[in-house]
Amino acid sequence: MSTKLAPSGEGIRIHRAPIRRQSLADIEAQAARIAAMMGQIRTAMLPPASVKQAPAVSAAQLAELCGVDKSKIAYRLTRGDLPAGTMVGNRREWAMTDARTWVRDLRHEHMRPAQAAGTTITVANFKGGVAKTTSAVTLAQGLAMRGHRVLVVDLDPQGSATTLFGVLPGAEVEPEHTAMLLFSGEEEDLSYAIRPSYWPGIDLICAAPLLFGAEFALPARQTRDPGFEFWRCLDRGLDQARMDYDVILIDTPPALSYVTINALMAADGVIMPLPPSALDFASSAQFWDLFSDLCNQLIRSRGQDKTFEFIDVLLSRVESSDAASSVVRQWVLEAYTDKVLPIEIPKTSVAATASAEFGTVYDLPRGAVNSKTFGRARDAFDRMCELIEQQIVAVWAAQIEQMEG
Ligand code: ADP
Ligand code: MG
Repeated sequence: MSTKLAPSGEGIRIHRAPIRRQSLADIEAQAARIAAMMGQIRTAMLPPASVKQAPAVSAAQLAELCGVDKSKIAYRLTRGDLPAGTMVGNRREWAMTDARTWVRDLRHEHMRPAQAAGTTITVANFKGGVAKTTSAVTLAQGLAMRGHRVLVVDLDPQGSATTLFGVLPGAEVEPEHTAMLLFSGEEEDLSYAIRPSYWPGIDLICAAPLLFGAEFALPARQTRDPGFEFWRCLDRGLDQARMDYDVILIDTPPALSYVTINALMAADGVIMPLPPSALDFASSAQFWDLFSDLCNQLIRSRGQDKTFEFIDVLLSRVESSDAASSVVRQWVLEAYTDKVLPIEIPKTSVAATASAEFGTVYDLPRGAVNSKTFGRARDAFDRMCELIEQQIVAVWAAQIEQMEG
């Protein structure tokens, strides 16, 4: 702060901003106030029982999800072997659970073959604010709507994904709801932490600040036992889940932490959301540089290897009118070539509106926002889900081929 000394004797009043010192007790009190507020905000937003609900599905949406014509839905209704839904006025709609029953029946060729293992996808980028959590949760919802059984593993101690699922990381999450007991060594299989979510077809492993403890527990275990291999802890812990779920989606913190390394080592596929900004692009280069150093140190130096089935760069928060971002978009395409998914998630107030209500575009009721922008954002996410589902289905097919060949 620059304070000009008044020349002596002139009696000029020096303007000085008041100092607002904060003791640790003040900070503690503030933390408690915000935590209480969060509880109230959530209660206000999610009446009456503070439980979120997945939206209902219209006939048009159901037809789209099933990949059939609306007339096929009407015809199939007459057979009476699938949930009939309910009439709301003169329109028929289905609860999400019932819609999934339809989808699983009509899209059976896209479902995981019994012999194939669930596919693990890690969403990572060590920048914050690039849409990791938004992408992970929207993708989970999209895949669940397409009939898959999804497990979301929140590994960010900030618990943003957990919050989007309507669970408050500070107040409602105990160690046994998180991966912490796996990382500390108290549990060997992550199944203990699984709980159902409000969205049919999605189960959840929560995160909370207590998960920061993993950053101490993992290196400590490695020091005690040099044969431990801290980077494989999660990979091993997911063995059971790979049999029980079609897709396991992992959201990571904005750091190449011990936990993120675990998430990458457990992954069959990696999605890196990347807004087309110069700083984000530069940071992504560092990410891959550090990651490949780590892989050399941890994996290849031991004569081991690791293959990813796919690595996708997802252009996120794209402002189409912004000239700078179209330049960086070219850099991204040049640098990441065929890894860049052929879809851009537009930066829209719709996504922002949704997150302000602790949800995603798939949570927003129809008509809640300007339908054209809503449609654009939703179409982009639909396409994202479709592209990623195609890769997952291809991984399953390759697994089966390998077993049979
Ligand atoms: P990360 O997990 O990488 O930190 P988030 O998914 O939490 O990123 O997103 C960061 C912020 O950007 C959030 O406020 C989110 O609502 C907002 N956001 C994400 N995607 C979009 C988008 N397509 N348009 C506008 N805002 C977005
Ligand atoms: Mg996040």
